[in-house]
Amino acid sequence: MFVAPLIERKRDGKALEPHEWTALIRAYASGRVPDYQMAALLMAVYFRGLTDKELGTLTDAMCQSGARLQFGDATPPRIDKHSTGGVGDKVSLVLAPLVASVGIAVPMMSGRGLGHTGGTVDKLEAIPGFRTDLPLAQAKRQVERIGIAMIAQTEEIAPADRRLYALRDATGTVESIPLIAASIMSKKLAEGLSGLVLDVKTGSGAFLAETSRAVELAETMIRLGEERGCPTVALITAMDRPLGVACGAALEMIEAIAALRGAGPEDLVEVTVALGVEMLLLAEPTTERGAARRVLERALASGAALEKFRAVIEAQGGNPAVLDDTTQLPSAAITEVVEADRSGYVARVQPRPVGRLVTQLGGGRATMDDAIDPAVGLSILVKPGQRVERDQPLAVIHARSAPDGTMAREFLKAAIPIVDEEPTAALPLMLSRVTRDGASALP
Ligand code: URA
Repeated sequence: MFVAPLIERKRDGKALEPHEWTALIRAYASGRVPDYQMAALLMAVYFRGLTDKELGTLTDAMCQSGARLQFGDATPPRIDKHSTGGVGDKVSLVLAPLVASVGIAVPMMSGRGLGHTGGTVDKLEAIPGFRTDLPLAQAKRQVERIGIAMIAQTEEIAPADRRLYALRDATGTVESIPLIAASIMSKKLAEGLSGLVLDVKTGSGAFLAETSRAVELAETMIRLGEERGCPTVALITAMDRPLGVACGAALEMIEAIAALRGAGPEDLVEVTVALGVEMLLLAEPTTERGAARRVLERALASGAALEKFRAVIEAQGGNPAVLDDTTQLPSAAITEVVEADRSGYVARVQPRPVGRLVTQLGGGRATMDDAIDPAVGLSILVKPGQRVERDQPLAVIHARSAPDGTMAREFLKAAIPIVDEEPTAALPLMLSRVTRDGASALP
């Protein structure tokens, strides 16, 4: 295949034809286009963008590079949630069993952490024995049997995206709205969904920090979903501070279990329930919003959501005893409390430095093939704007060694500055709701 003329055309701001995108993605997925040519094309897309037609063809070609889940008409509505990624974002661990516990099928496919962000798959794998690499046929049977599967994107699903994403990560081309939209939607459209809820993050820790760009990304993904028969709704939520308290695989699992027991941090529960309401409304559009919320709150309070998570863990080979005794999850050798060295206000808690610190402690990866240590991480005990007194605990470091603990202590003091004046307010936790009709305030 002659790729150079396609690169030149995109470089000069022109559109490629649908059959050119289809042939290119097919050739790339089968190793017939070298990475250096694809990298040059991705950089041209980064600067020149894609027309709606190009974006649709690219997304379809990436989706068709692999298999798709197909369910019979008798299966209940299948709804998934996808987050664009953040620090401390363990929403999926709570949301998937919660929504499945009220009778909606959740074929959830998630990613691993990369860069400063964590990934649901790593957090699930903190549970001893838990397998996320289920073959698609097995995942489908599990969804039909217990209404939920929580799996990784295996080789079977959108393999072109796997290669492209790793290449983008290495070539500075991740932060492109059409490339992010095609990447996410090519995987989601392979899940055979009846509806999709997107949690699009905004703020300094998000892929796209500016809220207007987050809304544009949401609108782009919604268009792709709706045009392909998958009703799609997005909430724009804050990622200018970590969500909840825990950052790090096992710590986040412990926090998610607490939330499933009705004792999660307020911000985590608020975002989880809001996304859950959207999932219920997609499954049953005639449901009244307040009633949907009450159904979910009851499922958390009654233990039904926790029991659904137990069923997932059992089905996927994990040790369900972790739900009753979280000391069976991996834990770090060293824990150190970081205290405020003065009284004042927390100026900020920036997610990117916090996420990078988790990676430095061993809890994140620099490339897709790195292994992570699920035991390490941080508990961030304060939020931006909060008043603190001298010696008040700000964070707990969970590290492998004393030198790691010392390194993290210095780093955290810089990442959580204390100031005299009350700082300007952080972003609201939830900013807006986006549908095919555009963005509006949260109902
Ligand atoms: N998550 C994805 O799956 N793809 C992207 O491009 C960005 C985030």
